[in-house]
Amino acid sequence: MGDRSTQLFQEACRYFPGGVSSPVRAFRAVGGDPFFVSHASGSQITDVDGRSYIDYLGSWGALILGHAHPRVVAAIQKAAEAGTSYGAPTEGETRLARLVQAAFPSLERMRFVSSGTEACMSALRVARGFTRRDGLVKFEGCYHGHADSLLVKAGSGALTLGVPDSLGVPADLARHTLTLPYNDLEAVRSVFAGRGREIAAVIVEPVAGNMGVIAPRPGFLEGLQAITRQYGALLIFDEVITGFRIARGGAQERYGVRPDLTCLGKIVGGGLPVGVYGGRADVLEQVAPLGGVYQAGTLSGNPLAMAAGIETLTLLQAPGFYADLEAKGRRLADGLAEAATAARILTQTNRVGSMLTSFFTGVPVTDYAAAKTSDTARYGLFFRAMLERGISLAPSQFEAAFISAAHSGGDLDATVAAAREALGLMAG
Ligand SMILES: *Cc1c(COP(=O)(O)O)cnc(C)c1O
Repeated sequence: MGDRSTQLFQEACRYFPGGVSSPVRAFRAVGGDPFFVSHASGSQITDVDGRSYIDYLGSWGALILGHAHPRVVAAIQKAAEAGTSYGAPTEGETRLARLVQAAFPSLERMRFVSSGTEACMSALRVARGFTRRDGLVKFEGCYHGHADSLLVKAGSGALTLGVPDSLGVPADLARHTLTLPYNDLEAVRSVFAGRGREIAAVIVEPVAGNMGVIAPRPGFLEGLQAITRQYGALLIFDEVITGFRIARGGAQERYGVRPDLTCLGKIVGGGLPVGVYGGRADVLEQVAPLGGVYQAGTLSGNPLAMAAGIETLTLLQAPGFYADLEAKGRRLADGLAEAATAARILTQTNRVGSMLTSFFTGVPVTDYAAAKTSDTARYGLFFRAMLERGISLAPSQFEAAFISAAHSGGDLDATVAAAREALGLMAG
């Protein structure tokens, strides 16, 4: 890395574990030290040493309009002038809720929180409170934030760090979480046949993003809906990544399956900290002050965050917005796949809309076990070679690349050209 980044990282290590505020940012999975960001605009992110990169991290998928969209920035500035937090209701919350519900009709009622973690943790508590059951089914490699019950065989940082169960999670709590292979409906059926009446909910990333991108097999999501209904459990779609990403109405629109509860995050806050959980009115009416499930937040519904979310979701309504992202996604995925073929390097490029992962493996990737066959050292080489060529990818094999509306055709072509060089070097 550049001198200034190196210096800042060394100093940060004196304050933060690993020098970072969130583990994957430390680049441990790809080697080398992270670059420190100075500023970003559109598809470009610039480090403190003055190097610019075409950015496919997009704040982990949050920035579907690209960095510092002028209208989003203006909305935040205007909101800030009227006060940054009140701890009292505002019209902005209702306006954002209206936009969320227009895209996700299944959210009959909702709550704003400040992160995806909080959204998933709260959805799970409501599901347990509503069903009066403790059991939870989740899938291997899916990440739902870092609440205790959900950090069991989690993907994302936990996956690459090789700590599927975090220290500090009580075994007594973790035993309520049953973890099954993604896309394996038979496994779900058999667990429900044995313990179905103890299970409060099934939580799933309807397109997995946190073990790299993996699409649901045809019938998988429909099957989860049928099984949960049969046993009186709730189906929770964690659409923190997929919401407003793979369609305006997320996976539930794209695949036509309506869950009981949904978690949103990332895009919905337009780059500011927002999470949402919501769903069936009868379930959400269990939440305080109406019901006995407690959940609250000092900064929930924060006016700056609401303003950023409103402006972002409004801009997503532009005609052809998702068709354009789909076309860009296809162009990049095809280009990367061709570059790998030309270099005779085995990869599997999985893509849904504008999120994609090239796994360094010859095995079709449909679940966590297959994702784990990837050559992560090779991914590290690729990542660093791309960074040297001005392309910033996710610093782990088990993440997605995110395309934003700000990526131009020229950006995509430059990325494919860089990949051809990088993969060519790796092959040679
Ligand atoms: C990012 C993510 C979360 C957690 O959101 P945070 O805002 O990081 O707490 C939960 N679920 C999924 C699917 C995510 O990608």
